[in-house]
Amino acid sequence: MNELNIKNKVAVITGGAGFICSEMARSLASKGVRTVIVDINKESADKVAGDIENEYKTPSIGLSANVLDKASLEASKKVINDKFGNIDILVNGAGGNSPAATTRVEKMEGNENPEDTFFGLKIEGFDRVFDLNFKGTLLPTMVYAADMVKQRSGAIVNISSMNSYRPLTKIAAYSAAKAAVNNFTQWLAVHFSKTGVRVNSIAPGFLLGNQNRFLLIDEKTGEPTPRARKILNSTPMERYGTPDELTGTLLYLVSDLSKFVTGVVIPVDGGFSAYSGV
Ligand code: NAD
Repeated sequence: MNELNIKNKVAVITGGAGFICSEMARSLASKGVRTVIVDINKESADKVAGDIENEYKTPSIGLSANVLDKASLEASKKVINDKFGNIDILVNGAGGNSPAATTRVEKMEGNENPEDTFFGLKIEGFDRVFDLNFKGTLLPTMVYAADMVKQRSGAIVNISSMNSYRPLTKIAAYSAAKAAVNNFTQWLAVHFSKTGVRVNSIAPGFLLGNQNRFLLIDEKTGEPTPRARKILNSTPMERYGTPDELTGTLLYLVSDLSKFVTGVVIPVDGGFSAYSGV
C-alpha cells in the first residue's frame, strides 16, 4: 500500500496567496511539506507564509513573481533552491477571469448593442485572461519542473475549471484557456511519462471567491444573480464548494497514493459535471 509520504517535500504554489491556493498551501504544510507561496502580490504571499509557519511549524516562504514573466520565475527559483533545495511539487494555481473578457449578453438574439456581445470583446482583455490561465501554467512549469526531471520524481497539479469541459456563457477567454490547460495536462503527462514526473489537474466546481463574486452576487441588492441560481440548480449538491474541499484531491495527486495516475483532470464539483439538468 502506498502512503501519503510527502513530509519535507518542497512545494511551490503559484497564486498561493489567493482564496483557493492559500488553503491548498495550508493543507500541504499540515502534512509537513515546505511550502513556497509564489504570488504577484508579495505582501499577501508573505502573510500566508507567515500564518502557515505559525500554525503548522513547517517552513514556508512568500515570494513575488509574475507567472507570465519567465525572468521573475527564474529569480524566484534561485531563492527557492538556495533556501529549500530541489522543488518536488508544483501547484499551478494563479489564474482567473476578469470583467474585461466577459460579455454582458449570454445568448445573442441579434439586435443587442454589439458592445455587449462577442463583437464587443476587447482583444487586450481576452489576451490577458487567456495568457494568465494558459501561459501562466506553461511558464512556471517550464521553470520549476526542471528540478523534478533532474531528480526523476515530482508531481505537478494544474488548477482547471468546470468550463474546461463545456464552456460557460459570457467567459470565452477563460473557458478556452482552461480547456487548453486540460489539453496541456495530457500532453505534458505523456511527454514526462518516463521521467518520474506526473502531471494532473483538478477541475473545481463553483466556489464563491473574489473573482466570480461580480457574476454571482447582485452588487446593489446583495442577492444571488440569476446566473448564481442557475449554478446552484445545476450543482446536484445545491451549494458552492469551499477551498478545503479541494485539498483531499490535491494531497492524493501530489503523493504516492496516485503513483500510477498521470494526465487526468479530476472534477471536484458537487456533481455539476455529472448532471444533465433533468
Ligand atoms: P484568487 O484571485 O483568490 O487567487 C489568485 C491568486 O493569483 C491571487 O493571489 C493573485 O494575486 C495571484 N495572481 C494573479 N495574477 C498573477 C500573476 N500574473 N502572477 C502570479 N500570481 C498572480 O482566485 P481563486 O478563486 O482562488 O482561483 C485560484 C485558481 O482556481 C484559478 O486558477 C482559478 O481559475 C481557479 N478556479 C477558481 C474557481 C472559483 O470558483 N473560485 C473555480 C474553478 C477554478
